[in-house]
Amino acid sequence: MTRLLIMGPPGSGKGTQAELVAEYFGVPAISTGNIFRANVSEGTPLGIEAKRYMDAGDYVPDEVTNNMVRDRLSQPDAAGGFLLDGYPRTTAQVDFLDSVLSEQNASLEHAIELVVHEDEIVSRLLKRAADEGRTDDSEEVIRNRLRVYNEQTAPLTALYAERGVLVRVDGTGPIEEVAVRVEKAITADGR
Ligand code: ADP
Repeated sequence: MTRLLIMGPPGSGKGTQAELVAEYFGVPAISTGNIFRANVSEGTPLGIEAKRYMDAGDYVPDEVTNNMVRDRLSQPDAAGGFLLDGYPRTTAQVDFLDSVLSEQNASLEHAIELVVHEDEIVSRLLKRAADEGRTDDSEEVIRNRLRVYNEQTAPLTALYAERGVLVRVDGTGPIEEVAVRVEKAITADGR
């Protein structure tokens, strides 16, 4: 059973790596950002609520996010494991995930942290803003997203390190090389 999560600042490539690593381990990649974006484009009530936070680069409230993740984890394809991408991002989300997993007598095997220097992050995000025009990719919003990440999410890696499940991986270099680095780090950890 492979239960994983991946953390990293916006622009660290965590969504791309989540897809590759999830495929390698044969589990679904569950991206809260993608689920929110799908709801925004379908104009669902969840999407309407989430959009104002996303457009400002703020986190969607924990209660909304937690309920959405609980629903998603109860889908049959997640029964054999999963890779969470972009969740948890707050201590309340860590606690909630712990309780969902303990209800299932399950536990997390690894928390992957993709490490990329902040200067590299900012240049990647500005390039993506120019290429794709994501509404949450203006320079001001990018700065806010990085600040929120550094304040609320980066400290969570220490929690997973204390539990002995944190795997830190250099997120720079070609996409395929980073993916192999992650896969090897997890396999070598032997849990
Ligand atoms: P990034 O990692 O670049 O911030 P994502 O696609 O993962 O991009 O997320 C986009 C936005 O979706 C976030 O800025 C936030 O508003 C919202 N979001 C995603 N995951 C969460 C979460 N776990 N908790 C709260 N908000 C979230």
